[in-house]
Amino acid sequence: MIADYHTHTSFSDDSKQDMEESILEAIRLGIDELCFTEHHDYLVKKASHLTDLPLYYQTLSNFKEKYKHRIRLKFGAEFGMQKHTINEYRADFACYPFDFILLSSHQVDDQEFWLNEYQEGKTQVEYNQGYYQAILDVITEYKDYSVLGHLDVIKRYDRQGILDDLKVEEIIKKVLKQVIADNRGLEVNTSSYRYNLPDLTPSRQILKWYLELGGKILTLGSDSHKKADLAEHFDKVTGILLDLGFESFCTYDHMVPTFHRLMTKEKESGLKSLEIVLE
Ligand SMILES: [Zn+2]
Ligand SMILES: [Zn+2]
Repeated sequence: MIADYHTHTSFSDDSKQDMEESILEAIRLGIDELCFTEHHDYLVKKASHLTDLPLYYQTLSNFKEKYKHRIRLKFGAEFGMQKHTINEYRADFACYPFDFILLSSHQVDDQEFWLNEYQEGKTQVEYNQGYYQAILDVITEYKDYSVLGHLDVIKRYDRQGILDDLKVEEIIKKVLKQVIADNRGLEVNTSSYRYNLPDLTPSRQILKWYLELGGKILTLGSDSHKKADLAEHFDKVTGILLDLGFESFCTYDHMVPTFHRLMTKEKESGLKSLEIVLE
């Protein structure tokens, strides 16, 4: 079963992808379930990156009905939350029947990572430490989410190279413990290959700590902003997760997770042919 739980369309300000074309491509690729996670980032000091939630909800509801016999479509959002914007998200979350919320950190103090605004003037350990601390501050207060999106995304924009997780182990483990205590999970974001990162997002080290600490809830997301990237590298990543010791991944319906067995395509088709033989 393929379920891509992180995808953007033109409802997000950094994508031009038409939603219906994306749905048709997902059907063509054999994706069973597709959860849209349009960007929703409130910024206080500058222009926010917000999705038109009423229009998005209406459009997706129409497509959900139109394609209901061909694919399961889910209503999600990627909340790029900061501690000082929590109340805005609480208000939005209360207004819509979300299936799934990816909780991400794209800015700290309204400063963007991808523009190096946040990192500027800090040491590498300082901005990494500050980034995880900001996530911990948010999840200590805010619980209406499903999984943390691309947990170590700050590595993607680090002009000094990638910091060893061991240097910020304590704060990362605090984040993981909070996630687990709240029965929330992590996303494995397969765009790590698109960005030529040397590891998964989050890294194998973080995923190992998560598993050791008792973490079980995982989703897979391509973070695609165009249809060509849907469900990319899912099979490879599934194999790696199985090697690390994970057994399942989750899909969501009205914020409630359902667990499915992680299975590579090879294993899945092996089981299917076995079923045919047994019949
Ligand atoms: Zn993101
Ligand atoms: Zn995203």
